[in-house]
Amino acid sequence: MTAAPSRTELQDMLSRIDCDVRATADWGVPAQYIPQLAQIEPAQLGIAICDASGECFTAGDASVPFSIQSVSKVFALIAALGRIGDQLWYRVGREPSGTSFDSMVLLESEAGRPRNPFVNAGALVVTDALLSGRAPKQALAEVLGLVRALSEDDAIHIDADVARSEQATGARNKALAHYLDSHKNLREEPEKVLGTYFHQCAIEMTCVQLAMAGRSLAGLPGAPSVLSETRARRINALMMTCGHYDGSGEFAFRVGLPGKSGVGGGILIIAPGRASIAVWSPGLDEYGNSKAGTRAAALLSEATGWSVF
Ligand code: GLN
Repeated sequence: MTAAPSRTELQDMLSRIDCDVRATADWGVPAQYIPQLAQIEPAQLGIAICDASGECFTAGDASVPFSIQSVSKVFALIAALGRIGDQLWYRVGREPSGTSFDSMVLLESEAGRPRNPFVNAGALVVTDALLSGRAPKQALAEVLGLVRALSEDDAIHIDADVARSEQATGARNKALAHYLDSHKNLREEPEKVLGTYFHQCAIEMTCVQLAMAGRSLAGLPGAPSVLSETRARRINALMMTCGHYDGSGEFAFRVGLPGKSGVGGGILIIAPGRASIAVWSPGLDEYGNSKAGTRAAALLSEATGWSVF
């Protein structure tokens, strides 16, 4: 284990990485299939780190709110496991898919049991489990309440315009939900699950709020005790193997830390025992993961020596 960087070292590192990544100006393209996200200026970069000393360090656009999208799948998973426990794994697997986040391919050959909770099909099953007979409002209040508790910030909210924007154009997710339904892997009406899922994805957060929310997964002292150590370890394992879809191997190779990305350009990264990190840059690579955000994460992991390998 390398020694933890000092406060000034960490702050200097962040400023240098922010400068380097901006100078490279290789931003990628914001998600085009969600009209509200397609309009966002790509040349933005935020980084926030909460470390084991309880302090948070930031660089760039760390206080700009963005749509967390699939990063919400981590919080929905924590909530669903809290609600129904390990029974969830009868309905969704724990293997990397090697396919894109919205792929249908494996769902057909594997009889409607999604590979993992982070591809869209798996996340729809998690949202269905979270609903279990309740109104969407109640399930959403549970996820939002969890996010607010983890980040100790009650101002976090759902951007209803983003949810509506996705609802209007989400043909693929609709196809996935109906296909899951055809295999009896949804208990609720597909439209109810989809509406809840789109709103959960539309939670808006800043890098600072997201890094705060990851402290419990990183097992940092003073973090809200919302999940057991075993559960945190397992969710980190899933983030490492499945958190970036068919780009998960590449992220592990470059960053060496569990991470969960979203098409809003955010990534939550966990350095177990050391730090919770959030990066955001809205332009995406070919896998739908933040291009400049991943570069910032790779530079940070290299500079700190925080890779788990
Ligand atoms: N809401 C988005 C979708 O379902 C989330 C995808 C993502 O962030 N990778 O398409």
